[in-house]
Amino acid sequence: MEAYCVKCKAKQEMADANEVEMNGKGGVKRKAMKGKCPVCATAMFRILGKA
Ligand SMILES: [Zn+2]
Repeated sequence: MEAYCVKCKAKQEMADANEVEMNGKGGVKRKAMKGKCPVCATAMFRILGKA
């Protein structure tokens, strides 16, 4: 999955991507993908929407 890397200032293919749940406003759970940039290893995050 591609995500935007703030360090590279470009989209990169997310490495070690894991699906996580995060709490949004009003107790709504949202699914997100968490991983890291294959180039600079900066943490990447991509919100997928409502769980
Ligand atoms: Zn990067």
